[in-house]
Parts: sequence; structure tokens; C-alpha cells
Amino acid sequence: MTEIKLYNTKTRAKEVFTPIDDANVRMYVCGPTVYDRAHIGNARPVVVFDTLFRLLRHVYGHYAVKYVRNFTDVDDKINAKAAATGRPIRDITDETIEWYHDDMDALGALRPTHEPRATEYIAQMIAMIEVLVEKGNAYVSEGHVLFDVNSYDAYGALSGRSLEDMRAGERVEIADYKRDPMDFVLWKPSTDDLPGWDSPWGYGRPGWHIECSAMSLDLLGDTFDIHGGGIDLQFPHHENEVAQSCCAYPDSGFAKVWMHNGFLQVEGEKMSKSLGNFFTVKDLLEQGIPGEVMRFVLLSAHYRQPIDWTAKKAAEAEATLRKWRALTDGIEPSANAASTVVEALADDLNTPKAIAAMHELAGKGDAAGLKASAALMGLLSDELGGWNDAVAVDDKVSGMIETLLDARISARQNKDFARSDALRDGLAAAGVVVKDTPKGAEWELGADFDAAKLEGLL
Ligand code: AMP
Ligand code: ZN
Repeated sequence: MTEIKLYNTKTRAKEVFTPIDDANVRMYVCGPTVYDRAHIGNARPVVVFDTLFRLLRHVYGHYAVKYVRNFTDVDDKINAKAAATGRPIRDITDETIEWYHDDMDALGALRPTHEPRATEYIAQMIAMIEVLVEKGNAYVSEGHVLFDVNSYDAYGALSGRSLEDMRAGERVEIADYKRDPMDFVLWKPSTDDLPGWDSPWGYGRPGWHIECSAMSLDLLGDTFDIHGGGIDLQFPHHENEVAQSCCAYPDSGFAKVWMHNGFLQVEGEKMSKSLGNFFTVKDLLEQGIPGEVMRFVLLSAHYRQPIDWTAKKAAEAEATLRKWRALTDGIEPSANAASTVVEALADDLNTPKAIAAMHELAGKGDAAGLKASAALMGLLSDELGGWNDAVAVDDKVSGMIETLLDARISARQNKDFARSDALRDGLAAAGVVVKDTPKGAEWELGADFDAAKLEGLL
């Protein structure tokens, strides 16, 4: 069996990955808050952990891997959008989830095994908060339930910060109802115009962090293999998840391996709406950048490193994919991915090295090996190839037109004017505009171009 090594944020070391149960490998990745289109940075964890999901399935078996990614559908940003637009919250979250699926499908990301919505797990969150209150790790204050960070000695271990550093370095909300400024909200009161549920602490709604603890417990158990997300989530979100889960279930291990992807920036700058360099996946698709090209660019850097999205990288990725698609077109993939590619991925998901190994396969003309290896990276699939087929059609069309124009020249040379006129008329009827110039015939496609009519002329 292939040995996988993963860098574990918790131990700050690359470790051999040993699943708790080979037949039930479990991964949880924090998903989006659903009120807006996903941007190209949000796509990075999706593509990175999709590639890990593919690798785990390759090694442990298709049905041996459970991958959970949540939708945060209760959040103050969603409430604000509902208030600003007058639309019901459920409309906004349903629509955004649909967009998310469309956009992530376009990137070739497989759907996770489970995609729980936070609002469907309120009862589990309340149950977990009750345990925390009972054990003395949480307290009720002015309708809020807060986690008492001083009750958990290991608080800060995941992100490597002491409470002192956090108090000094973080912009925390100082509120009268908190014992310590670092205490965080598990439950807060709601007014009638806000989403809310009845609870032992009154009508209210959950804080953000508790949802991932409750959903991972319900779907993966109290101890599971991998927990992932962007590096911005390491603190406070993941630190708080650890505190909640490990205090509620002290015998559990929660996540064994913590993985964090680095951030994406655009043309050397932080992506921001004010700088005009903020792109959603949908924007890029509309600019004609295929999802497969985005995926390739996202995989071209190691996931722990920052990545710079540039137009140049997208163009280079497109050229490579065109070349590889031409090489593998109609070829049956070999039974196994190349060992060079598998080994690169097994080495803490070294995708740049895997891509280099794929260039080597292409260089050797090993199309079958390239195609099988690409599948492991979610590349060169038929489903993702539509953008390239369009070009293949173009090539076919221009080939047909050139053939017909050559036939017209030979007909003229043979003084078969009936034939040359028929070809001229046929091309015109198919919507091909032909201009005879001193350099020979030039052509372009008219608005009424009809490929079927062209084919009839051959
Ligand atoms: P959010 O919906 O903001 O919670 O983000 C969803 C996911 O995208 C989280 O895993 C974030 O860490 C990740 N993410 C957000 N911005 C970026 C970025 N610029 N680069 C990489 N990952 C990001
Ligand atoms: Zn989470």
C-alpha cells in the first residue's frame, strides 16, 4: 500500500498517515458561508482537498473514504444580506449553494460524501453546548453561552499561541458578559427578525465554531483522521473547534491530522474588491478561463505555500492542457497512475512535483500513463474537456474549408468550372465568406455558418 505522508499543523511535522480505520477514512473540511459567489481563493481549499480525497480513495478504496464539507447557512453576513435585499434567508442560502455546486463542479471537484447545512444540526449543537455547560467549560451570561478558554489548558496549542499573545494580538470583542476577552460565543440571543431556535438559554442562534464540532461528531464520530481548511481558519476557528470537542468528549482525539492551505493572491496583491482584482470563479469562467485551467493553476503550487494567480499562469496552464488533451485524445488510460505521480501526491500532496512527473510522461509520449495519472489530479477528464472540444471543432472546420478551397483550385486548374462554381456556391450557402486575394483565398465564418452544410460538400 502506498505510504502517504501529510504535514500536520498540530505537530508541525510531516508524518506518516495511518488511518484510524483503513476501511473508514474520515475527513472534514470547513466549507463556505453561503451568501455570495465563491471567489478563486475559496476554490483553493476545494481543489486541494478534492485532490486529497482522490488520493485517499486511490489508496484505501473508493468506498473507504468519507469526506464531509459543511455549508454555514446561519451567520450574521447572511442576515445582513437578507435585511439589505428583503429576501428570505432560505432563498439566499439555497441560491448560493446552487451557485457553489455549479462553480465547484466546473473545477472538477467531486461532491463530498456529506454536505451538511448548519441549520439542520441545531439540536446537536444545543446538545453539545449543554454538555460543555454541565462540565464547567461554558457559562451562561446575559442570554449568551460562552466558552471559558481558561477552563482548557491546551487552548492555543493548535495555533501555537498563548492566551497572553492572543489577548495582545487579536482584535477581540470585549464585552461585559465575557469573563475573559478570549471567551467565545457558543449561543447568542436572537430577536424576532433574526433566525432563531428555542434552547435552554432562550430563543437564539449558535455561534460559528460550534457547528463544525457538532456536525463532525454526528457524521464522523468523536475521533477522525483529517480536518482541513484555509490557513486563516487555524485561529480562532479551528482552535475553538478543538476546545469545544475535546472538552465535551475528553476521551476523544477529535482530528488527528490538521491541514491548512496557504492563501491565494492575484498578480502579487491581496485580492480585494477595492483594488479591482477580486474574481469569483464565475467571473473567470465568463472571461473564458475554463474550470480545468483554474484547477491546474491552483494545483501548480504546493498547497501550504501562498499562490499567486496571474493571467500568465492561466495562459500557460491552458497551453499545457491543450497539448496533453491532444496527446491523450481517444486514448484508453492505463490501468494504473504512474508511480512518479502517485509518489509525489503521497508526499504531502506535492502537486507541483506531480505536474512535473506528468510533463515527463507527456515528453515520453506515454499518453495512457498520462491520462491515468491525470485522473488522480482531477484533470483531462471527458467532463472537463468541453472547452477544448470547441477548439477541436474549430480545427475540424478549418480543415474542411481548406480542403474545399484546395478542391476548388484543382477544379479550376482542370477547367471543371461547374465543379468550382458548385464549391463556391456551397461554401457561401454554408455561411463561409470567401475572398480571393492576390495571396490566395481568404475566408471567415459568417453569422449564418452551418457546419452540417459544409460537411455535405466533402
Ligand atoms: P469563507 O466562506 O470565507 O469561510 O471561506 C471558505 C474557505 O475558503 C475557507 O477554507 C477559507 O480558509 C478559504 N479561503 C478564503 N479566502 C482564501 C484565499 N484568498 N486563499 C485561499 N483560501 C481562502
Ligand atoms: Zn469549521
